[in-house]
Amino acid sequence: MSSRVDELINSLMKYSHLIGGVIDIEWVRLIESIQTKIIDDIRGEAGSYDSLLSFINNLESTGKLYELIESIAREIGEEVPDPKIALTGALAGDLNIQGSKPAIIALQAIARAYAEIKLSSGPVIEPSAICPICGAKSETMYKRGNNYYMVCHFCSYTWLQSENKPTCPYCGNQSEITLGIVSDKTMRIALIKCWECGSTWRIILDESIKAPLILLPLIAMAAEKFRNVIREIEKESGYSHYSLE
Ligand SMILES: [Zn+2]
Ligand SMILES: [Zn+2]
Repeated sequence: MSSRVDELINSLMKYSHLIGGVIDIEWVRLIESIQTKIIDDIRGEAGSYDSLLSFINNLESTGKLYELIESIAREIGEEVPDPKIALTGALAGDLNIQGSKPAIIALQAIARAYAEIKLSSGPVIEPSAICPICGAKSETMYKRGNNYYMVCHFCSYTWLQSENKPTCPYCGNQSEITLGIVSDKTMRIALIKCWECGSTWRIILDESIKAPLILLPLIAMAAEKFRNVIREIEKESGYSHYSLE
């Protein structure tokens, strides 16, 4: 097994107490080993494209993407009657189309390879929650020193969202009065609510939590236990009336 898969599984076990719930370790191991093989195989090509979309389009036009979908399907034991239809389903986020699951796994591996190449020149500054690489909306922030980074749930690209203090990645609100950070006394992981736009997102405050980027959104899910606290605050203060939602 590659060291990359080992690292992911070790981190997953290390932080599973924070995440809670049941994690299917064997499934994660299988998907990570499938994606690691693909990432190693295509990373070299990724650098020659100026967008993820053009990289995907090229892999599709050469037929490579369809081969990947079919080989993933064999490894996870799924049928793909038509990889083209499967890909269309995956791009539309329609999991009911047969084969869309292996197609999503393939697309994610391609996006991760592309994100890794882009990250090798350092993270960009991007004040929003929208991943500059794949366009997915992130709900996960983490802190390093005075910097606040977002990480993409799909391709695990990471970008510098704000400095010195967290700001709302959805509306840009910087006011400490209308940004509520809710955590427990350990302050390891928190939920932030912006009462300007009504958004919430999760933040990993504890910098000793070190895991592969792809795992950070899962670890940050631990903040969901504070959602009821936010509801209580809103009930008592009437704050939710300020929400623009
Ligand atoms: Zn992304
Ligand atoms: Zn906001």
